[in-house]
Amino acid sequence: MEYFELNNGVKVPALGFGTYQMPSSITEENVSKAIELGYRSIDTAQNYGNEAEVGQAVNNSDVPRDQLFITSKTQTSGYRSTLRGIDESLQSAKLDYLDLMIIHWPTIDNSGTYKALEDAYKAGKLRAIGVSNFNSNKLQSLINHAEVKPMVDQVETHIYWQQKKLHKFLNENNILHESWAPLGEGMSPVLSDPEIVKIAKKYQKSTAQVILRFLTQQHIMVIPKSTNPAHIAENLDVFDFKLTDDDLATISNLDQGHSDVNWPSSMGQEAY
Ligand code: NAD
Repeated sequence: MEYFELNNGVKVPALGFGTYQMPSSITEENVSKAIELGYRSIDTAQNYGNEAEVGQAVNNSDVPRDQLFITSKTQTSGYRSTLRGIDESLQSAKLDYLDLMIIHWPTIDNSGTYKALEDAYKAGKLRAIGVSNFNSNKLQSLINHAEVKPMVDQVETHIYWQQKKLHKFLNENNILHESWAPLGEGMSPVLSDPEIVKIAKKYQKSTAQVILRFLTQQHIMVIPKSTNPAHIAENLDVFDFKLTDDDLATISNLDQGHSDVNWPSSMGQEAY
């Protein structure tokens, strides 16, 4: 596993396990399997309805809690409901703290919502805080009023939507770029792109592995999801090879500069 460092010094695994649309009935089993295989970072959300099962897998694991990095996301707007929501997440997952809590999408009261994250961070309930689906304008206005600088922005990022402008803004502000849908949610043709197929053959890796390696080599944290045991193992096995500068350039040129899902609309290219 490779690690990145957040702007508060906390270390975060470059690759984690996503759980979006993972039914709660199979989440504990899949997260336990992932941890057994070597995943050390798990991404859940209040909105996914599986925080409790992620917590069960964490608490049942032989891996010490301080070696795991658990992320959740708010689904509230405003100070009080968000503070309450954080406590409910901790109670539901039966965890003393979360490693990262992010605002899932911009709300009508971003500053109040973020203030709750700051206070929970100061109280030791969260080791890091940040946002998701924030464009650079929204993030800049949050930073202007924040006491604690956000540490992460989790946004749709894959080879056809590389977020180059936002990536530059995040780097300049020392905020980690985290990708959701690194594999195009399994619906986009990213995994069968002919250039990726060619590169994958050269390294004797799968196209998913090449894509995950490309993103992590750009200093982008990834959280691919799968419930297929072979894919769960395959997606983790990406740190024994390195793409050359030529291959990185080829993949960089595959960027189409727009979202696959067009959600949320505030993430449109013109907002950068
Ligand atoms: P993903 O890009 O990780 O794609 C997952 C799908 O790709 C799987 O369902 C499967 O169909 C396919 N797949 C996975 N591994 C494969 C492999 N090795 N070979 C072939 N196919 C493979 O999409 P995602 O789950 O939407 O995104 C990853 C995680 O990001 C989510 O699980 C969730 O935790 C997070 N997320 C966050 C937001 C947000 O708004 N912050 C939105 C979406 C997802």
